[in-house]
Amino acid sequence: MPDTLAQRLTVVDERIAAAAVASGRAPQEITRIVVTKFHPADLVRDLLALGVTEFGENRQQELTLKADEIGAARGIRWHFIGQAQTNKARAVRAAAQVVHSVDRDRLADALDAAAAEGDPALDVLLQVNLTDDPGRGGVVPADLERLAEHVGGCPTLRLRGLMAVAPLDEAPADAFARVARLSERLRAIDPDARWISAGMTGDFEEAIAAGATHLRIGSAITGPRPERG
Ligand SMILES: *Cc1c(COP(=O)(O)O)cnc(C)c1O
Repeated sequence: MPDTLAQRLTVVDERIAAAAVASGRAPQEITRIVVTKFHPADLVRDLLALGVTEFGENRQQELTLKADEIGAARGIRWHFIGQAQTNKARAVRAAAQVVHSVDRDRLADALDAAAAEGDPALDVLLQVNLTDDPGRGGVVPADLERLAEHVGGCPTLRLRGLMAVAPLDEAPADAFARVARLSERLRAIDPDARWISAGMTGDFEEAIAAGATHLRIGSAITGPRPERG
């Protein structure tokens, strides 16, 4: 792994660009979110200095603390990518501009109800569970359309697309091909819900080949995550 943060970021961005071109896509149509979970706010500052503006966190408390500590920085956007409890919806909405992990009506309702007067619409994605394990989070594919209709009825939420994590026991290319088909189903309901949040350190090139628009990349850029205490 390259030694410095700047080098790792450059290497990942070069790989993203190469994978995009190899699939006949424009690299600019792909958003690279840097997942900073477990890392201190200083790492976010270093990444901001390198021009990164899209950050991902998977726990509400850590998101809230870091977003508060960093404060307003030009163009910064926080993406919440973890499982959310409905009683944390207000805090998630206060800190994040995008929520990737809407997987049930009650969470959509709680995020919707958490809008403050004059808030912009919250960008949300539906997380789809590609495994047979309900504990992994995400709506089962059979319920996708029903959840999309429900979210469509939440006035302060803007449905942007889908999020998925490739299962460990399936080739990422196969998993992401399923996601691409689910995305087509979603767009049949809402043509604007075009985002596909897929691809992490180990599989972002396969995700790009399958049409991912948003990559959630942690350790390839940040280096190994510190142990969580
Ligand atoms: C941690 C995390 C990532 C990033 O993982 P890496 O393998 O470090 O790139 C992406 N998505 C989700 C949902 C995560 O929790």
